[in-house]
Parts: sequence; C-alpha cells; structure tokens
Amino acid sequence: MWIDAASERASDRTVACRLFFSACNRSSWTARRWQRAQRWIAGIDADSTQVKLGMLASIGEGFLGRIATSSLASRFLSYLRSTSGMGVTELVMSDVLEVHRVPCLVDNYAWLLHEPKAGLTAIVDPSEVQPVVEALRKTGYNLDYIINTHHHWDHTGGNIALKDKYGCRVVGPDADRSRIPRIDISLKDGETWKFGELDMVTFDTPGHTMGHMSVYFPEAAAVFTGDTLFAMGCGRLFEGTAQQMWASLSRLSLLPPETKVFCGHEYTQANARFAISVDSENPKLIERKKVVDEMRSKGLATVPCTIAEERDTNPFLRAPDAAVRAKTGVPSGAPDAEAFAAVRRAKDSF
Ligand SMILES: [Zn+2]
Repeated sequence: MWIDAASERASDRTVACRLFFSACNRSSWTARRWQRAQRWIAGIDADSTQVKLGMLASIGEGFLGRIATSSLASRFLSYLRSTSGMGVTELVMSDVLEVHRVPCLVDNYAWLLHEPKAGLTAIVDPSEVQPVVEALRKTGYNLDYIINTHHHWDHTGGNIALKDKYGCRVVGPDADRSRIPRIDISLKDGETWKFGELDMVTFDTPGHTMGHMSVYFPEAAAVFTGDTLFAMGCGRLFEGTAQQMWASLSRLSLLPPETKVFCGHEYTQANARFAISVDSENPKLIERKKVVDEMRSKGLATVPCTIAEERDTNPFLRAPDAAVRAKTGVPSGAPDAEAFAAVRRAKDSF
C-alpha cells in the first residue's frame, strides 16, 4: 500500500489521506468513494491529528482493528488525547440511566451506559479497546453489550477485542448487519429493545451511512445519534442522499426539547464557526458559540447538548429558515430538503 501510494507522486497530504481512507474502509473501497474522499481531504490539514492517526492506522495491514488492539497504538492515541483537550472518562448523567463519557481516538466519544436496576452495562460506539477497559475498571462494571450506531471503524473498532474479553453481545442496525463486526442482535426501525428495565427505541437515521441507527431512551430523555446529529452539525453524506439525511434529522428534532443528545464526536467548535457563517444574526447561536469557545479553551467537552439547543442553533435543522435560505441562495418556495442540501454543500466546502 505504501509503494502504491508513493508511485502516484502525489502530495504528502494526498498520500497520507489515501492511506487514512484505505485503512478506514478497504473492503468497500471504490473509485467513486475515493473521489468523494478527495473532496473532503481538500478541507483538512495534512498535519491534523486525523491524518497522523490515519498514517498510524496504515501500519501493518492497515486495518483499524489493529489500533484497537496494539499497545503501541493505544499509547500513541492516549498521548494525542492528552494534548488535544479531550479529557478522561467522566460521569455526565445519572438517574434511571447512568452515562459516562469515554473519549477515544482523537475526537471520538464512546458512551458507557449503566442501568442500575438490572445492573447491566453497555458501551455505545467503541472505536478503541483501552479507554473502554479503563472506564470499566474505574466504574467496576462488567460489559454486557456493545451498541453500534453504524459500521464505520471509528465506531466499531473495539467490537472484536471487547467481545472476546468480556463475552458481551453486539447490538446494531439490522440494515447494516453485514458490516457490523460480530453483531448478535440486529434492530429494525421503530423496534424497542430492553436494556435491563429501560426501553431503547431504534430509529433508522440514514444519510451518513445507509444503515445508520440512532437509539432513544424515553425514560432517561437521552438519544445517541452517532454521526447523524452533532452539536450544531450533522454527519457527512458518505452513502446516503440529502433527502435521507434531512428526513433523519427532522425526525430526531421532533424528540422532546429537553432530550439530551449524545453524539459520536467533539466537533462542536468547528461546527459553530460554520454555523455563524450561514446564520450570523441568530442571537441564540451567537451566545452558544461564545459558551462553546470558552469551554473548549478550557479543554471541556461540549457533548451532550439538548434537542432544544439544536433546534435553536443547528444550521442544518435551521436550513428552511428564511435568513439561512437567503445566505445559501435557496428560494423561499424550494423544498426544505433542498435548503438542507445547500447548507450541507456549503459546509463541505467551508
Ligand atoms: Zn461515521
């Protein structure tokens, strides 16, 4: 792979990113995917930790599973986290559902869930093994389930090693059962699964990937949105269409306003910079951006957020708004999905 990349005499950035992307998803690599990836690459910094991470991932067979199991890689990643203000495992919610934030890789969050009545524990989207093992050691819990929102390596990289270590069962979207490593329980849209005594409702939320699901715990007022809804952002359209993503986001936005949103990445500050560029007169956005900038300057996490905050300040949910349409050049009579697509395109080239 190294020789192949070097022979193209491409720039360092292209080489690094090619390695990164082929490491991420070699099995479904296509020319079209690579073209799409290149457009994305144009917007990222060659020195960014994502690219360094990608190069690391390319060592050996270049499969991200190795990141999850290699102690050298784990040490490197924990160094990156310590220098990027990602923090350590932290209890962020307790009550009917306990939720611990588990920083992974460079800007990923896995979420450790504990249902105290039944004494069951799950991890949502474990990209790595070591931070999850550490979180379990700290809390004293055993791991009963892995819950994956979608197939990407930075949400499933820990599946195999964690399952081998704890004998836990893997829960994921039925629509993507063939791409979720070692899946045991596959859930369909609208299906309710019992996590101990709590209901977990599954929503198919395609757009970022075709088989993406979000999971909602009504009694805990918590939703885990993976790479569909971010704080002030949304996932890139790697596999689905703008119409699908708009439908997915619209559905999530209808959850009760107080619902806490637990997404898969700490992208909030960069998302806020873009949001203000298309929604500059929104006072709630201006205020939230200030708060987020201050939190990030102290290395604090900005996730979870709430559905109410997202309705008020997320430029993708606000795409149909007249001010945002005016900024993105979408006529007032055009469908909302079209307005969303314009915001997504603007963000892709921001
Ligand atoms: Zn993803």
